[in-house]
Amino acid sequence: MSTSDQVFVIVGGGLAAARAAQGMRDEGFDGRILIVAAEDHRPYIRPPLSKEYLQGAADRDAVFVHPDEWYSEHRVEVATGQAASALAPADHTLTLADGEVLHYDKLLLATGAAPRRYRSPGGDLAGVFHLRTLDDSERLREALAAGSSRVVIVGAGWIGLEAASAARHYGNPVTVLGRESITLNLILGDEVGAVFGDLHRANGVDLRMSTSVGDLVGEDGRVTGVLLDTGEVVPADVVVVGIGAIPNTGLAADAGLEVDNGIITDAAFRTSAADVYAVGDVARVFHPVLGHPIRIEHWANAENAGVAAGRSMAGAVISYDEIPYFYTDQFDLGMEYSGYADLVTDAEVVIRGDLAARRFVAFWVADSRVVAGMNVNVWDVNDAVQRLIRSGVLVDVGRLADEGIELDSVTADHASAEPVSVGPAGGEG
Ligand SMILES: Cc1cc2nc3c(=O)[nH]c(=O)nc-3n(C[C@H](O)[C@H](O)[C@H](O)COP(=O)(O)OP(=O)(O)OC[C@H]3O[C@@H](n4cnc5c(N)ncnc54)[C@H](O)[C@@H]3O)c2cc1C
Repeated sequence: MSTSDQVFVIVGGGLAAARAAQGMRDEGFDGRILIVAAEDHRPYIRPPLSKEYLQGAADRDAVFVHPDEWYSEHRVEVATGQAASALAPADHTLTLADGEVLHYDKLLLATGAAPRRYRSPGGDLAGVFHLRTLDDSERLREALAAGSSRVVIVGAGWIGLEAASAARHYGNPVTVLGRESITLNLILGDEVGAVFGDLHRANGVDLRMSTSVGDLVGEDGRVTGVLLDTGEVVPADVVVVGIGAIPNTGLAADAGLEVDNGIITDAAFRTSAADVYAVGDVARVFHPVLGHPIRIEHWANAENAGVAAGRSMAGAVISYDEIPYFYTDQFDLGMEYSGYADLVTDAEVVIRGDLAARRFVAFWVADSRVVAGMNVNVWDVNDAVQRLIRSGVLVDVGRLADEGIELDSVTADHASAEPVSVGPAGGEG
């Protein structure tokens, strides 16, 4: 059968799905491409939903991956408002929630992740928000825009802190309740994590770490406060819940695919079922450098791995080995992080620049090799950081910390130019 007679179905209508369709066409696939998307919108990107779009600084058009006409120009069909409900790999069929049964030749699961819901009593009161979709962002923006709501953010992770920044942007009084002792310390360590806490306090956020949150309390169906385990109630008109996301693996698990904190795939995005692939937040993809699968909930992964998965399905030989990358913007702080979170646990943190001024590059160095790097309010260095990580060369930490020395010249004197592969490593970060 020529490929023009084939049907590739993509389940999920997010960034990874849109990029996969692009990758299929880039690779010359000329058959039918159908994206089955549960949401009512064509694919869009999520990072602006907690940043510029939430702050009213970006147009709605700016969040969409492709302009509307791109899909017709590339013969990519998008069935919005259509959830897939069952997958039968042996029959090569996908059933939609309305009962329609679709045949596919190859299928990509790009179902993403869903926000972890607040399960304690009060989680469904009016005024309680989760932040995942365009609609969530628009509803929250409406609640924040007047600038007079007492906003309480549950969770001091990336989404919680970005939402706090947006809420302060409108002038709302904001309290952030974090479980850990120091912001983001599980990812960045105490010293670098604290930079974010200091940033928020400096911008008027009442940041309360080491807190344990219980029920949300309310009156007449509206939230009025957040109960702490100390018995204190933190008053709230708006509560934003940012306590993590869970991969949407149900379809895959029900179909008997191998699932373990994500759909397991090889480095070419092939799942345990023939002709079924997975990519993006939902997938745990074998990483050739680490020697084990990792699941990455970040924009760059959906963006780049999405294209790669589409190309793989269209016949390209792929072994996806990009270095994980993500970014954040909060108040006047912009940051990019590249590296292997799995490898930073026992790494030495080396700072180049001024931590207190929030203008620095942090490196995580394990066995004299850079395994991760993060630039904060320092720009045009992330490519060099990635080169250091990828090369695996031995570095001199003194030279690494010295702003006067080019990042490409921080190799230890005794190091050979021979690249040394990183890992395989132990547990996943
Ligand atoms: C508010 C917010 C801010 C973020 N900011 C950053 C950032 O600053 N930097 C960064 O690196 N990353 C950020 N991220 C993470 C990034 O957006 C995700 O990694 C990315 O969206 C993953 O893309 P995806 O296509 O894999 O999944 P998703 O974007 O989750 O898309 C999956 C889609 O599949 C649909 N779907 C699920 N099940 C089905 C089904 N059965 N049938 C049909 N459709 C289905 C879902 O409704 C959803 O629309 C942010 C995420 C959020 C929510």
